[in-house]
Amino acid sequence: SSWWSGVEMGPPDPILGVSEAFKKDTNPLKMNLGVGAYRDDQGKPFVLPSVREAERIIAQKGLNKEYAPIGGEPEFGRLSANLAFGQGNEIVSSGRNVSVQTISGTGALRVGATYLAKWFPGNKTVYLPRPSWGNHTPIFKQSGMNVDGYRYYDPTTCGFDFNGAMEDISRIPEKSVIMLHACAHNPTGVDPKDEQWKEMSQLVKKRNLFAFFDMAYQGFASGDVDRDAFAVRQFLEDGHNICLSQSYAKNMGLYGERVGAFTVVCKDKEEAARVNSQIKILIRPMYSNPPVNGSRIVSEILTNTALNKQWLEDVKGMADRIITMRQELKDGLANEGSSKNWEHIVDQIGMFCFTGMTPEQVEKITTEFSVYMTKDGRISVAGISSSNVGYLAKAMHAVTK
Ligand code: PLP
Repeated sequence: SSWWSGVEMGPPDPILGVSEAFKKDTNPLKMNLGVGAYRDDQGKPFVLPSVREAERIIAQKGLNKEYAPIGGEPEFGRLSANLAFGQGNEIVSSGRNVSVQTISGTGALRVGATYLAKWFPGNKTVYLPRPSWGNHTPIFKQSGMNVDGYRYYDPTTCGFDFNGAMEDISRIPEKSVIMLHACAHNPTGVDPKDEQWKEMSQLVKKRNLFAFFDMAYQGFASGDVDRDAFAVRQFLEDGHNICLSQSYAKNMGLYGERVGAFTVVCKDKEEAARVNSQIKILIRPMYSNPPVNGSRIVSEILTNTALNKQWLEDVKGMADRIITMRQELKDGLANEGSSKNWEHIVDQIGMFCFTGMTPEQVEKITTEFSVYMTKDGRISVAGISSSNVGYLAKAMHAVTK
């Protein structure tokens, strides 16, 4: 027998499964709303003009291919923390943050989870919003943390269950970790309002919980990088020493470059030095050091004034296109004569929309209209374009009326 005869076949990845089925479909009107990657209005993958220009500038520099430090270039870490916390923030200027480059947002979460599993002094359980990004649970579990949850999404309104969240958070055992999506919550597209964030921040403080922010979509939600950082900055202002994962996959379209950052905000510089030393000890046996190309692109964009301006326009262009598609889908459903309330399509924000469609309706829209999405009724709004939004509205009305 073989060494591996005892290995069981694992289940396929639910999202990649949707793409496989989509590929096999021969209907010319087919739509893939499963994957979370931005598409332009022609349905094509999009490389940001600012990224193309940064690549051109970097190529001209003729840089070498030496290893980066274990935590990436310190300059990259500083730039990432400033993007999240705001230019001129006290944390970076006093040097009390540890910010390392990671293998995109997933890597940031993984390094963060591993760090907490080893060094978090409280209850080694992270409380995730229900639902949360599908990868959060395995990332924390495989890193040695326990996973639990708090109410977040309200299926009756397709919106935020603020009261449920507050009630559940008030019952989380003291000194536990709470995971918060900074903006553009995945998979629901539902974000708390500013006033609700303020109340949540106070409650998290009162309960003595440690806040771990996942910010995978800064700028991608509203089109404004400062607006989208509201929750993170509010928590900092309220005195929380948070940790943060960041990804440049969406807001710079650098998906396959795998560039992100993990930050721990410490009490002071001396504490930061100790935390930094331990994070390096955890990263070294995982992958030694991060890739250099993506971080060079990010650093060029964040330091070159003209490029930075271009990037802010690029990211706003993507966010605006998504917001427009939400409006056109909602209008399209009304034009089809749908009497259902579809307000949540425009109230939600970011890449994804939780439509509220049932698994049966999802099944039907796929078999009868070749519209592909995950069974929970989530659609990637970035996969809709002005040429097929009408078809989608027609299909959604047909299966929900
Ligand atoms: N966190 C959330 C909530 C996400 O939606 C994603 C991407 O879909 C990520 C993190 C990390 O993605 P990546 O590893 O591509 O940066």
